[in-house]
Amino acid sequence: MQDVCVFCGSSPGEDPVFMQSAKALGEAIGKASMGLVYGGAHVGLMGQVADAVLAGGQKVVGVIPQSFAHKVSHTELTELHVVDSMHTRKAMMFELAGACIALPGGFGTLEELTEVLTWAQLEFHQKPIGLLNINGYYDALLAFFDQAVLAGFIKPQHLELLIVHHDPTELLKLLEDYKPKHVTKWSH
Ligand code: AMP
Repeated sequence: MQDVCVFCGSSPGEDPVFMQSAKALGEAIGKASMGLVYGGAHVGLMGQVADAVLAGGQKVVGVIPQSFAHKVSHTELTELHVVDSMHTRKAMMFELAGACIALPGGFGTLEELTEVLTWAQLEFHQKPIGLLNINGYYDALLAFFDQAVLAGFIKPQHLELLIVHHDPTELLKLLEDYKPKHVTKWSH
């Protein structure tokens, strides 16, 4: 697999398990000799994943909008791309990676995760998309997605685009073994 794009909280979260798991994911990425692409900040889970990948001797590429690059950029990255907008950033992060993983996070993370799922269901790409469900953080969101399937707003095969696991190493393996299926949004 190529480099992996990680979406995650710019906050550390209340429970130390979130930072520990972000570190564990970074270490697993390093051990698998993959590079990291992410939002380029030194704060929260974002900084923790980046530091763990760098400590493992692998490449870390950050992509950050100019408007807040001076405030939160990580200064030790292999490469930092400063771009004009959040839209350019998201497209570039996704373009540079062969797979995506979302860790716990807030609105920013949810927006990034659901956008790459939307692109997948529209068949714009076939890259695997993983969700690291640490301590059941995403259980309520996954229950909501099930409800959306029952209500007829998400197709069951589109829900399968999201690969969920609680263990970073197992999740990376699942992404590596991923075989894209043909999915279509259009029923007519
Ligand atoms: P959130 O989950 O709301 O903390 O947002 C985190 C996600 O949105 C990251 O994956 C980033 O791409 C982006 N983001 C939001 N806030 C920041 C920030 N302060 N610094 C860098 N990126 C951020």
